[in-house]
Amino acid sequence: MRLVLLGAPGSGKGTQAQRMQARHSVPQVSTGDLLREAVAAGTQLGRAAQLVMQTGGLVADDIMLGIIRERLARPDAASGFILDGFPRTQAQADGLATLLQELGTPLDAVVLMEIAPEILLRRLAGRRSCRRCGRVFHVETNPPAPGERCADGRAHDLFQRPDDNEATVRQRLAVYCERTQPLIDHYARMGLLRRIDANGSLDEVEARLEAVLAPA
Ligand code: AMP
Repeated sequence: MRLVLLGAPGSGKGTQAQRMQARHSVPQVSTGDLLREAVAAGTQLGRAAQLVMQTGGLVADDIMLGIIRERLARPDAASGFILDGFPRTQAQADGLATLLQELGTPLDAVVLMEIAPEILLRRLAGRRSCRRCGRVFHVETNPPAPGERCADGRAHDLFQRPDDNEATVRQRLAVYCERTQPLIDHYARMGLLRRIDANGSLDEVEARLEAVLAPA
């Protein structure tokens, strides 16, 4: 399966991608996670990306395309992937199309996760991630189960992403409307777009996602 999850920040792309990867035996490829790893490692890319991310902007298209080219060349992506947070611009969508054409592996579908704006803000305010295993939680709707631990047996170490503060969230949503939303029409014209209602519980959204991916 080669899938793109499209949707505003907080629409649940990462959470659903994490849940889907085991079921479909393909990795979640989150460009946000790859950039956060680079920031944490203090690499040249990380240093360049940090300020852009903190202010809710977009990292340059050529950098992002380089990251994706490298990531999709790894063996675990040979049988497919779930792209989460990429592409975010028309140039990235065009670059992805060229790359997949070279590899002879076209996309199967692009799923748009549609959600009410007031729910987005609530989701982002309560979002927490585990510093060690990267799993995404929500303080109200999806906290770790009592006693739940990372794969290494230690308790989850939850933190709030620095870009989940109100000012940066507003900027990220504005950037989404301006730069990423046009991709909805782009993928609709290509006949790849499937829309799902991303409001509701994790299980409800997951069921809708699987339903639009099921063969007709
Ligand atoms: P995310 O985890 O997907 O919300 O991404 C966090 C931040 O990383 C974004 O607000 C951007 O600053 C940056 N980022 C992630 N993916 C991309 C991308 N495809 N293009 C440009 N910037 C990105």
